[in-house]
Amino acid sequence: MVKRIYQFEIERFINLFVIKELWYENMKNVTIDQDTCIACGMCESTCPQVFSVSGNPNSTIVPEFQEGEDDKGRVPEEIPCLDDAEENCPVDAIKVE
Ligand code: SF4
Repeated sequence: MVKRIYQFEIERFINLFVIKELWYENMKNVTIDQDTCIACGMCESTCPQVFSVSGNPNSTIVPEFQEGEDDKGRVPEEIPCLDDAEENCPVDAIKVE
């Protein structure tokens, strides 16, 4: 459990300070339609580097990738789970462009 927490924190650190700077030109826009979201948690399970449902009524973008609001973000396209999260959302609330 502790090892997993460390791994998750290391991934968040890399997302914030390394990936975001090195590949800033290769970013994708992500939008969550929070009116459509049913808070099932699938996106967080699929891609916790980008999505968070815990403690929120609906899914949100994690703070390091937010663009002004918690339902909009810019995310490095190198994060492979991003497209999977879009495909797995049961109500098509996630748009990746
Ligand atoms: S997978 Fe879709 S419906 Fe489920 S929490 Fe994420 S955005 Fe909401």
